[in-house]
Amino acid sequence: MMGTLRKEVFNREVNVHQWTMITKLFKDHARVAGALGLNVQTGATRLYKAKAIILAAGSAVALQKYTSANFQTTGDAYVAAFDIGAELANLEFLEFTLIPAPKGITVPMAGLSPFTSKGGRFLNAAGERFLEKYDPERLEGTTRAILVQATYKEMLAGHGPISIDPSFIPDEKWDDEIQYEYAPKLSAAGIDCRRDRFEWVPALHTFLGGVFINERCESRVSGLFACGESSTGMHGSNRLSGNAIASCMVLGARSGKFAALFAGANDLAKLEPLEASQELKRLESFHGESKLDPNDLEWEIKNLAWESAGVVRNETGLKAGVDRFEEIRRDKIPLLKGNDQRSWIKALNCANLAWVGEMVTRSALERRESRGQHYRDDYPVKEKGLPKWIKISKKGKSIDCKVESIPFGERDLMPGTEG
Ligand SMILES: Cc1cc2nc3c(=O)[nH]c(=O)nc-3n(C[C@H](O)[C@H](O)[C@H](O)COP(=O)(O)OP(=O)(O)OC[C@H]3O[C@@H](n4cnc5c(N)ncnc54)[C@H](O)[C@@H]3O)c2cc1C
Repeated sequence: MMGTLRKEVFNREVNVHQWTMITKLFKDHARVAGALGLNVQTGATRLYKAKAIILAAGSAVALQKYTSANFQTTGDAYVAAFDIGAELANLEFLEFTLIPAPKGITVPMAGLSPFTSKGGRFLNAAGERFLEKYDPERLEGTTRAILVQATYKEMLAGHGPISIDPSFIPDEKWDDEIQYEYAPKLSAAGIDCRRDRFEWVPALHTFLGGVFINERCESRVSGLFACGESSTGMHGSNRLSGNAIASCMVLGARSGKFAALFAGANDLAKLEPLEASQELKRLESFHGESKLDPNDLEWEIKNLAWESAGVVRNETGLKAGVDRFEEIRRDKIPLLKGNDQRSWIKALNCANLAWVGEMVTRSALERRESRGQHYRDDYPVKEKGLPKWIKISKKGKSIDCKVESIPFGERDLMPGTEG
């Protein structure tokens, strides 16, 4: 799919600026006006004027210490949009999955459903098929959220490690998907996935929240559109396997269409040179020597996010998370510097991750129930009645968090309200 898209980009002679990290969006009153890009290889900056902008910069999977993604995003789209007044929602819904961890070494990859849908069984250290306790009807066919939460609870209760037993997969189901896609990765980790039982651990997979958009993929900032994991609304609190790519395709096409229509109907907005020079100064402020090492702060952020807003959450942990993320953002980020290109960029990434950590913990603290991928052991059941959004936006130098009823229309599919 990526190969086809890339060819099409060349066919249409699209002007591509590689290695360019957008660090800031600019706005003229309520309209987007442009962006600043930083070449992460050379350090050169470039100002872009734009009639419309589409955010397609993924999510922030680098937020947590365990992740299935071997390519990591740092919440750049969320922070840039938030900074110029866009709303974000559903940030408490981090999607966790299980990744293989043979002999305790994690293998970042997807590939849970090929094993579970073909007959593989999850067992705890005592050899019990523990899903009989958590979802006796669906067992391994349960939702990803229940599977991950059950695994985590078993591990917390000292019943780990949790392994998959592939011997239940019948011969005719050993198809190309497992043989060619997953077996080589596991084999590199010393596992024969057709024969060996091997361990799995929970890890962050995707973000189900992001920039709040309407049906035209437009945010509340005029001319600013979002799609893919940068946006929210498609999956609600949980996601069906395979639906992320489908939503990228649908929202990618829609955001492109509506952004093009917007650009065709509007002139360039005014881009204030002073704001651009302030952003250059901010970038420069991350350059140099500091006592605080960006690598250390990155690990502090990842550990904090895992402990406070991991698979199982509660008020005590989330409150501590909110306070510590705010403290990192306020007291540590201004002192953070990198003296070479790599650590300079890492420092910039940490600044974004600290914001995202606070957004996630604040939203999760506000949702006093368990729903989909958001599990709170102090509120273990789903609230009765129609679901609500937790929306966040910027208020001065902090985060405003509000709970809003979802305006279901007459012809909308209504979710169950029984709690
Ligand atoms: C291991 C794994 C397996 C998965 N398997 C499936 C599956 O089988 N089916 C399915 O439906 N979903 C799957 N998903 C989820 C799905 O892959 C993602 O949701 C989807 O790829 C997100 O696409 P995206 O384009 O929104 O973001 P990404 O793929 O994260 O791409 C974001 C792009 O933005 C760029 N970028 C980031 N920051 C900036 C910046 N500041 N400036 C400029 N560019 C920037 C990045 O370099 C990157 O190119 C999987 C996810 C993982 C981690």
